[in-house]
Amino acid sequence: MTPAAPLLLTPGPLTTANRTRRAMLVDWGSWDEGFNQLTASVCARLLAILHGAASHHCVPLQGSGTFAVEAAIGTLVPRNGKVLVLINGAYGKRLANICEVLGRDFSTFETAEDEPTTAADVERLLQADEGITHVALIHCETSTGILNPLPEIAQVVKHHGKRLIIDAMSSFGALPIDARQVPFDALIAASGKCLEGVPGMGFVFAEKQALAAAQGNCHSLAMDLFDQYTYMARTGQWRFTPPTHVVAALHEALLQYQEQGGLPARHQRYADNCQALLEGMAGLGLRSFLPAAIQAPIIVTFHAPKDPRYQFRDFYERVKAKGFILYPGKLTQVETFRVGCIGHVDATGMRAAVKAIAHVLQEMDVLDI
Ligand SMILES: *Cc1c(COP(=O)(O)O)cnc(C)c1O
Repeated sequence: MTPAAPLLLTPGPLTTANRTRRAMLVDWGSWDEGFNQLTASVCARLLAILHGAASHHCVPLQGSGTFAVEAAIGTLVPRNGKVLVLINGAYGKRLANICEVLGRDFSTFETAEDEPTTAADVERLLQADEGITHVALIHCETSTGILNPLPEIAQVVKHHGKRLIIDAMSSFGALPIDARQVPFDALIAASGKCLEGVPGMGFVFAEKQALAAAQGNCHSLAMDLFDQYTYMARTGQWRFTPPTHVVAALHEALLQYQEQGGLPARHQRYADNCQALLEGMAGLGLRSFLPAAIQAPIIVTFHAPKDPRYQFRDFYERVKAKGFILYPGKLTQVETFRVGCIGHVDATGMRAAVKAIAHVLQEMDVLDI
């Protein structure tokens, strides 16, 4: 692997392959038939990863991942709907925030940042409140790296005849999700995470009947996925200016994804990255925040060293000077930092990052880990 330095070990934007970046050296016109085909090919490839072509539409949307989450809630939750939001970190809180801003009624259920929501929790919550129409959850909560039990929760939601909205931003493409087995109305992801494209567009897999019934729900013109989909289905074009370079890069990234062995291979590489990282850091005495059983191979939260000579800013700058970008922690109670396992990087890259961290801790005279 020959990525451009430095390596981004973060939740995104991520390190991309040279080939992916080179695909952006073309200026496509939005009316160009070749570009329309590129978009159609991207959507078909995305649906195939999910085994969702029979049941779901892929609706791409300009913007960062949050734009697509907001569009999914705004379009698929009717104005008189009520969302149960499952929270164990910052992205779950953002879901609740979106409901609040959009004026959708909602309730929240929050567990500790190291505690997955369980299907039993959801069972109890749905029994207690008949008014809930939708459940929204984060698959891999990127603020810690915790994995929530999506298939089990999806079955409970379906059993109650309710609708599920999944933020799978940091897991889609790497962790298996099969639309033939996991029922949902919407699953949201983006170009710049595990597919290793560049940031700039999200996409929503919307259940066909749910999307067809969603006309007029949305409070926003630009965020209306019903309109976005209908326009694209009719014309082959994006409604409003498409992020042409981002689409071209994602298409190239998806070609490489297939060539490398698709989801099983991506999952394996990230799992190997995570393993190499955990072992290397344990060798330095750095402890991970989550137990292995609930740790997704996406991003790892580490306890910061106790030594007063440790300061994240200084640590970050020194590790960066050695070619690796880390990420601050996002916990309120404990001092942590995060290291991503995703992007165009392999276990050799992860071991090199651990080595750089070891040297930096020595430079900083951090002894009390
Ligand atoms: C990255 C991410 C998002 C989207 O964040 P943006 O900054 O809008 O791209 C949403 N949810 C999760 C779980 C994520 O990891």
